[in-house]
Amino acid sequence: MDYDRIKYAVYGVFKTCSIHALPFDCMYILAELGYKCKKYSDMSEKGFDACLELSNDAHTIGKEIFYNDKKAKRRIRFSLMHELGHLVLDTDDEAEANTFASNILAPSMAVHYSNIKNVRELSNLFDVSLECAKYALDTCEKWSYSAKKYGMTDIDKKLYNHFFDRENQRFVFKKTQCAYCDTILFNSNKPLCQECDKPHHDPLSYTDHRTEDFIIAENQWLYGGF
Ligand SMILES: [Zn+2]
Ligand SMILES: [Zn+2]
Repeated sequence: MDYDRIKYAVYGVFKTCSIHALPFDCMYILAELGYKCKKYSDMSEKGFDACLELSNDAHTIGKEIFYNDKKAKRRIRFSLMHELGHLVLDTDDEAEANTFASNILAPSMAVHYSNIKNVRELSNLFDVSLECAKYALDTCEKWSYSAKKYGMTDIDKKLYNHFFDRENQRFVFKKTQCAYCDTILFNSNKPLCQECDKPHHDPLSYTDHRTEDFIIAENQWLYGGF
């Protein structure tokens, strides 16, 4: 599978639709790209049966994407992005469409900068199923290993720049405010910042050497040296 081609396609959608925050609204992206979403439950009985016959989740006919709205919300998000994968990659390959869906919903770089190493938290932060979160976490580990060893690829750099927040000088895909002290939280799903969250604070997450290694490697790509 040509992973770079899939990453370029994901980046292309982020750029075209001006997506700078995750998770995004899948319906919005599809509308921006000129596709219409139709619920299975809005079809006639005959149409509904025909839809289920084609796919339990979703399928595309021309510019119309039909989806099973009885499924769980996170599964629907994945199915819609799977269909978009078929369209933008112009492929019938199911594995490629799945890889596209996972990469657009939870890109490895964003997973990396979330610092989340737990499938359930990752699933909540990116609004994806546990299955997709597990895949995204595994893919992120491989990605950060390779990025540390060989540096960022061309498409990685494009994605990094796309989500780079100049004001805060960092990769940002989500900004929230601490409900207690108003500190701006980056790439987090937690309602409180580390300062306010002390009773639940797990010291292990701050002594993760892989993260330190990565910061060093990142400075090398960014500043091209030592
Ligand atoms: Zn498919
Ligand atoms: Zn706080």
